[in-house]
Amino acid sequence: MRKTLPEVYKAFDGVSVHLKAEPLNTSVSARMEEKGTEKGVAAMSACYQGFDPAAYLQYNYTPPRADFERKDSIVPWKLACLHRAFTEGDVNGELLVDIGSGPTLYQVMSGCEVFNKVLLTDFLEVNRQELRGWLRDEGGSSLDWTPFLQHVCKLEGRGASAWTEKAAKLRQVITDVVPVDVHRPQPLALDDLPSAGADCLVSCFCLESASPDLAAFNRALGHIGSLLRPGGHLLLIGTLGMNYYFGGPGVKIPAVPVNEAQVCAGLKENGYTLIRLEVYTTPQDMKLGSDDGSGVFFAKARKE
Ligand code: SAH
Repeated sequence: MRKTLPEVYKAFDGVSVHLKAEPLNTSVSARMEEKGTEKGVAAMSACYQGFDPAAYLQYNYTPPRADFERKDSIVPWKLACLHRAFTEGDVNGELLVDIGSGPTLYQVMSGCEVFNKVLLTDFLEVNRQELRGWLRDEGGSSLDWTPFLQHVCKLEGRGASAWTEKAAKLRQVITDVVPVDVHRPQPLALDDLPSAGADCLVSCFCLESASPDLAAFNRALGHIGSLLRPGGHLLLIGTLGMNYYFGGPGVKIPAVPVNEAQVCAGLKENGYTLIRLEVYTTPQDMKLGSDDGSGVFFAKARKE
């Protein structure tokens, strides 16, 4: 006699322990993992509603984290990594896309010299507004980017006074500031990108700060890879070992703590060849309580 559906479910009740031990269910467990991630992604999106661009800039882009006199300050370290990556000769072309720009511009200050167009992206309208405010050049930005521009000009051997030219260059090549969601298989709107894809992606502190777990982080790496042409480069910066950070006063945002090995494995799994991985260890006096990260990684990779 055929069993009705409820009876079949009932028949499984007593053997649930045994079923758990079965190694067959990979697709089921992958689906469960995705379901878990979906919930986590929704929870993260809710946390981000309190994100405060001015406070975030204050925590992360003023001294001691942005102290251009200190060799061990994190911002000069990031700018040096990006400067090197964009001046080695292998990274250039038509379009550079920055994934999860937030309210910041430092990450494209070297790249704007070797790409004709730069597209900025973020999940939050408040961050897109902050960036558009700077692009319009009518004052009212939450942070003065001048020392950053001056520092990058010095790295390029141009002298700090060239910073106004760099600011003008940035305003000229940045074509738009658009929404992005790294948890969607297609993170950008279709008409934001040419069908061939971008020549280069840069993404700083986005994936680990936007993902509820390592599986979501890895999937997001794959999603953004779909925006990149084969042979194009990914410059990925992120925090190591971070469980949370503050996106504003009292706005505690959970993050996925990643280590170097996990970043390398994630890149490999998603079809990138690692060219270089550099690691910065956060000095004790730069642990400010605005996050619990232990350091920062910089990866230069190429999409197969
Ligand atoms: N790139 C900047 C900002 C990093 S903060 C910097 O270098 O400082 C993390 C950023 O991830 C925030 O701007 C946030 O809006 C963005 N973000 C959050 N969820 C996201 C998602 N699902 N997809 C893309 N970006 C997301």
